[in-house]
Amino acid sequence: MLKERFLSYVKIHTTSSEESSDSPSTKRQFDLAHLLEKELQDLGLEGVQVSDQCIVTGLLPGTTSETLGLLAHMDTSPDYSGENVKPQVIENYDGGPVPLKGAGITMDPKDFPDLEGLKGKTLITTDGTTLLGADDKAGVAEIMEVLAYFVDHKDIPRPSIKVAFTPDEEVGRGTDAFDVKEFGADYALTLDGGPLGEFSIENFNAASATITIEGRNIHPGSAKNQMINALDIAADLHMALPVEKRPQHTEDREGFIHLHGFTGKVEEASLFYILRDHDKEKFQAQKDLLASLVDYMKEKYQTPIHLDIQDSYYNMKEKMAPVDFLIEETLSAMKENDVEPLVIPIRGGTDGAQLSYKGLPCPNLFTGGHHYHGRYECVALEDMEKAVDIVISLVKRLGERK
Ligand SMILES: [Zn+2]
Repeated sequence: MLKERFLSYVKIHTTSSEESSDSPSTKRQFDLAHLLEKELQDLGLEGVQVSDQCIVTGLLPGTTSETLGLLAHMDTSPDYSGENVKPQVIENYDGGPVPLKGAGITMDPKDFPDLEGLKGKTLITTDGTTLLGADDKAGVAEIMEVLAYFVDHKDIPRPSIKVAFTPDEEVGRGTDAFDVKEFGADYALTLDGGPLGEFSIENFNAASATITIEGRNIHPGSAKNQMINALDIAADLHMALPVEKRPQHTEDREGFIHLHGFTGKVEEASLFYILRDHDKEKFQAQKDLLASLVDYMKEKYQTPIHLDIQDSYYNMKEKMAPVDFLIEETLSAMKENDVEPLVIPIRGGTDGAQLSYKGLPCPNLFTGGHHYHGRYECVALEDMEKAVDIVISLVKRLGERK
């Protein structure tokens, strides 16, 4: 059933869009939302609805006074086509190169060493012409299976389960219209992680910074001692930043300062950065560094330079203290199902991080997927089953807590 569910979801085109400011960013996300609404109703959940902003919610009442939220996103990344997905199902994968037949290309373990670990499993890939959408329809399918299990096993003591399937995660707007209070869960999990065992309770602190340099343009023939070239100053400023802080030189817990845009003329130039660090103090130090460098360059070139820093999101770790038990029980549920937990800090954000700061603590569990956002995306069915088993174990453990 898990396989059938997953394959039916990935065939629905739900790509979100960076260009649109609508909510949801693309109307087609309603196609999956309405299918899920019907399936939740068929399972007998209470209060099933799809909001105008395309958030699907429903409640499976439990036996304790607590409510666990389970969340996954329905959209797929605009980085690659998600239309007309034609999954390939490879039983008992031999660990070798996988032909992606629609594009005449091969997914080779030489390029993707993690394929080794999927040997012997049921591998689901794309045909090479689209992404797969395991991110995050694997999460959606897994949550549906968990719900179906507890609908069939009504007498097991457990918290109520409130489900939400959300749009627009891939364009960073998944939780904009999400009302934590109305949702009414005490704590939650997103199922939106990667390979087997991944469990995230930490992510980056994130900000964006724009530096705008005012120049003074004069005909270059008569520019002596008069021209102030904003482009020169921008280049000087950027090169004064520590090279080792660039993303291509960082990993694990190392933060970065990333120049992702540079526009300008002699008269005015702008540099666009993102700042990232897991550690709050180091995150602040990045901002201080930019501020002092801007001050220095203002002095050096005697021209106005403007710095605008906007915070984007914060490390959810700070909000996890009240739900230590949820983390402990999830780790125990993983071990109970013979899955070695990989607790690694996310080098990015998650919807769960935003929700944690809105008051709903929300760690992120693996779905089993690999190579997201492109045509090499794949997932092993057995790893998806493990995610289902772990969440079922977790719900039972939470039910025994009181
Ligand atoms: Zn995702």
